[in-house]
Amino acid sequence: MARYTGPVCRLCRREGDKLYLKGQRCYFKCTLDRRKLPPGQHGQIGRKEKDYGIRLREKQKARRIYGILEKQFKRYFRLAEREKGVTGENLLRILEQRLDNVVFRSGFASSRAEARQLVLHNHFTVNGKKVNIPSYPTKAGDIIALREKSKSISKIEEAIENAQNRGIPDWLEFDRDKMQVLVRSLPTRDQIPENIKEQLIVELYSK
Ligand code: SF4
Repeated sequence: MARYTGPVCRLCRREGDKLYLKGQRCYFKCTLDRRKLPPGQHGQIGRKEKDYGIRLREKQKARRIYGILEKQFKRYFRLAEREKGVTGENLLRILEQRLDNVVFRSGFASSRAEARQLVLHNHFTVNGKKVNIPSYPTKAGDIIALREKSKSISKIEEAIENAQNRGIPDWLEFDRDKMQVLVRSLPTRDQIPENIKEQLIVELYSK
């Protein structure tokens, strides 16, 4: 299945919520503030979702926020189910562990899509080794560092500046001098600010 390459603000309008897919622009010039209706010819009509539709939308929202394809998302869910603890919370933690998400949360990129590109283009190391897999699962104690040759990239500098306003979660420890981040611990549910009702996703897949 191909990755979505169309206008991303449309996805936010479809979900009726800010998914923060466009980087810095989302924080000061968001399309959703002006156009709240769902996209398409029938967006104006105002559909009433049934139970299945509500659960489906919640899953689509989570998938779109983290930029994950259906097949992989389902694989993450099965993994979350097998782990100890609350499945929905496990799922969100697994999504947060992804290297592209950690790069975004640390402020090296202004969106997860941008973080994904940076990882794919070999700009980071994990514990001193080059890693270019966006889905790479980081763990507590890992050090993710920007490679020496990438430190002068202005886009990354700019993203780091802007991230100061966004804030870096306390499960990550960012070192600006070394341009690296330490994963102190994996995040708990209250450290994940995304507006996702994970229980609805569990209900959808448990049918
Ligand atoms: Fe979504 Fe960002 Fe577009 Fe707003 S600007 S609709 S948050 S992608």
